[in-house]
Amino acid sequence: MPGLRIADPLWLAHRAKREGPRYPELASDLRVDVAIVGGGVTGAAVAWMFAHSGVRVAVLDAARVGRGSTAASTALLMQEPDIDFAELARRYGPKNARRVWRLSTAATRDFVRTLESLDIRCDLEHRDSVYYALGEPSGRRLRDELRRRRRAGIPGRWLDAAALRRATGIDGAGAIRTSGNAQADPYLACTGLLRAATRRGARIFERSSVDRIDADAGGVTLAVNGFAIRCARVVIATGYATPSFEPLAVAFRMLQTYVVATQRIPARLRRDFGLGNVMLWDTGRPYHYARWTIDNRLLLGGGDRPRVSERQRAKALRDGAVGVWQYFERRYPALQQVDIDVAWEGLFATTPDGLPYVGPHPDYPKHLFALGYGGNGMTFGFLAARLLLEWYRGKRTSDHRLFGFDRTVALNR
Ligand SMILES: Cc1cc2nc3c(=O)[nH]c(=O)nc-3n(C[C@H](O)[C@H](O)[C@H](O)COP(=O)(O)OP(=O)(O)OC[C@H]3O[C@@H](n4cnc5c(N)ncnc54)[C@H](O)[C@@H]3O)c2cc1C
Repeated sequence: MPGLRIADPLWLAHRAKREGPRYPELASDLRVDVAIVGGGVTGAAVAWMFAHSGVRVAVLDAARVGRGSTAASTALLMQEPDIDFAELARRYGPKNARRVWRLSTAATRDFVRTLESLDIRCDLEHRDSVYYALGEPSGRRLRDELRRRRRAGIPGRWLDAAALRRATGIDGAGAIRTSGNAQADPYLACTGLLRAATRRGARIFERSSVDRIDADAGGVTLAVNGFAIRCARVVIATGYATPSFEPLAVAFRMLQTYVVATQRIPARLRRDFGLGNVMLWDTGRPYHYARWTIDNRLLLGGGDRPRVSERQRAKALRDGAVGVWQYFERRYPALQQVDIDVAWEGLFATTPDGLPYVGPHPDYPKHLFALGYGGNGMTFGFLAARLLLEWYRGKRTSDHRLFGFDRTVALNR
């Protein structure tokens, strides 16, 4: 299995290696209702939601919880999917596109409310997003995107070039400003959710790789550390199709993406950037994005590229980080006075339409999957938890079709 990231991301770089919760290895047979493979933010959200509803769950992570892609995340909690509304409507029709947007808006709101109501300290802050176009014709396309969103009842405000400059310090053609988004420390959010799940009876095991899964008429048996976990259903929350699910790998494209975190920027210099308290992303594909952290660092990201071999990853990280830095240095000359603190990269899985796969697959009985979020894993992971709880309880709604493995056919019928 490839490493999900290289170099310590900001969230771990300044934390003592032993800090954070530690969970035991599985060391005996176990019976639960649902076993969850993967202790990242998706597994944590599933564990919390299922345990909160009275389902007996166990989370198994091959390594340490929250230290895979989740720790690499820049944790922009966005209601806007990576894919434009116009593109989604073209693929699946305006009604389905509108529903995806509504669900992702609700998931962001519910995720934030859950973190708040559980009092999970994860540097959570409410933020608007600014989705900007640098020039034409992308500015015209972006205005059209806003018109289509509004027609579908999706809110957003147009920033013309002057307003974009005032809000972000960027010279561009214009932008869509969206309220109701947020940012957080993803590692703390994930481990906080897991802690809350354990208070509801969830069992969590680290260094417990699920090596084999066998389904039969009565349920599922997982082989872990030489022991057996027996359950009714298994949730696969490993981020992407791991080698055990090789036949599903064709449904995903694996990308590497790059992040640079600056040192803390003093208030006087921060003013020179002209970037307010908003989360930025651009209309380029792959897109670039930026946000402030709670301690006045800038997080700069983007530069996604197809996965490189393990041997090439360190060099690709240097090139990727330089590319991201140069892009933002052109927008923010003040960056020349700032040092980089850490740079890292992580692996993520995308799908052809930018939406995750959530639900069962006909070739894997009693399995429920939640995989392939692209750059939206924080909020879609939370949405996945809700949809999977419905699947588990036998509740079926039209929402399930939007994220099914067979959606291309099902939604165009
Ligand atoms: C650099 C970067 C920046 C990102 N920025 C954002 C962002 O700003 N906003 C956003 O919403 N999303 C962002 N994402 C995406 C987001 O981080 C991921 O989609 C999300 O963290 C996926 O969480 P997960 O729990 O599904 O997977 P992971 O966090 O990768 O967790 C999967 C876990 O499964 C475990 N595992 C794998 N195989 C097994 C096995 N056989 N047995 C037991 N355990 C196993 C692994 O050890 C791992 O801990 C970013 C991603 C990257 C890489």
